[in-house]
Amino acid sequence: MAENIEGVFLRIREAAAKAGRDPRSVTLVAASKSVSPEKVKEAFGAGLSDFGENRIQEAQKKMGALSGLPLRWHFFGHLQTNKANAAMDMGFELIHSVDSVRLLNILETRAAKAGKNQRALVEVKLSAEPSKHGVQEEGLFEILYASRGASRIKIEGLMTVPPYFTGRQEARPYFARLRALREKAEAEGFYLPHLSMGMSHDFEAAIEEGATIVRIGTAIFGGREK
Ligand SMILES: *Cc1c(COP(=O)(O)O)cnc(C)c1O
Repeated sequence: MAENIEGVFLRIREAAAKAGRDPRSVTLVAASKSVSPEKVKEAFGAGLSDFGENRIQEAQKKMGALSGLPLRWHFFGHLQTNKANAAMDMGFELIHSVDSVRLLNILETRAAKAGKNQRALVEVKLSAEPSKHGVQEEGLFEILYASRGASRIKIEGLMTVPPYFTGRQEARPYFARLRALREKAEAEGFYLPHLSMGMSHDFEAAIEEGATIVRIGTAIFGGREK
């Protein structure tokens, strides 16, 4: 696994160099869904500190089992509103998947009650696939405008999961579109420094299009079952 991690860091450095970017402007989040706490610990030992989960229950267990380690946990699965309070209480470094004004409001209320702030991204759906989550462009702006009234939830950027392509470059137009949406939002006065995009098979293209966070599972931990 240490070799895999080394290899991913190398690929990040190469992609950043190609794009004329500082490799330190790209955060590697290890997608640890279906990976055991022992493996997460091993990855931490090999230099990783950011881990991402996509199911609240699994995340709760893993975070509990590893609470002794200084890890930063991310959530990037679909967040049902009935799990929003639990997610808020878990202390994620970043929630990547805000996809409705309703969810934003629930998180805001819970954060205010707890006296906490929470960093978050809006998940944007750029393909028509029914299996993908996120909001379309109109929904994105609705959430961004609503976020102006939220003092606890800090929307810091956008996230997307493009359709799966076998080629490494084919998802690139989706990454470019997420970046264009960010520019459009910034023209309206929103400050959105983060773009969470790029997975094991396409993260170089994402970095070349401006990703600041890449979410990588199989290239680190190997193939997932199921
Ligand atoms: C699992 C997952 C990833 C990582 O996918 P890999 O192809 O294993 O790198 C990235 N983003 C999300 C939202 C995921 O659920």
